[in-house]
Amino acid sequence: MWSNKHKIQNLIFINPANIVQIVWEVIGDVMRAQEFENKPHLYLDMDGVQADFFTQWARLHDKRSYKDIGDRAAREASIVELNARGPEFVYKFFATLPPLHGGLELVSWLKKNQIPFTVLSAPLRGNEQASIDGKKFWLDKYNPGTSGQAIFTGEKFHYARKGGQSNVLVDDFKKYIGAWREAGGIGILYRDNQVAEVIDQLAQIYGIK
Ligand SMILES: [Mg+2]
Repeated sequence: MWSNKHKIQNLIFINPANIVQIVWEVIGDVMRAQEFENKPHLYLDMDGVQADFFTQWARLHDKRSYKDIGDRAAREASIVELNARGPEFVYKFFATLPPLHGGLELVSWLKKNQIPFTVLSAPLRGNEQASIDGKKFWLDKYNPGTSGQAIFTGEKFHYARKGGQSNVLVDDFKKYIGAWREAGGIGILYRDNQVAEVIDQLAQIYGIK
């Protein structure tokens, strides 16, 4: 929507010779939007799919893997500690997450095939706003054009269906995939080293050869 508005606003300022082309592009965008209207809408997780939360988290403890942080209690204590460092630290933590290669490949495939998607990511409990701001900064850098529409909530399952239509969630967290499927959505469990399989599943759903 933003891009159409932008194009229409541009009509006022540009050379009349380009108007036909811009009108043509707007019509193309509207037709593509209609084409996808009756298909499941795609929701895309961030941490563990696009952004490497787990490596950054391990680094806080000078570990290679987040699994080396310790058992469940130790990991929970680590998140409490992360929150205790305050909103500025939390903002930076999320704003500087390294990208995941599979996730970037997936995003570029979605954009190439013009499949509309919405980023759906859970904020950090305890520093919600700082984590959201950091995530938006990250999106502007690695997945530009998506931060404005992105949804930040831990209750992802609310988006599993709309108007009798099942929507798709690509997420690395089994808990979210389980709740999504229970709510009637199509859940695709993501693994960064299996991005080809995820793309295959999406290609089937959206009828892309
Ligand atoms: Mg995740």
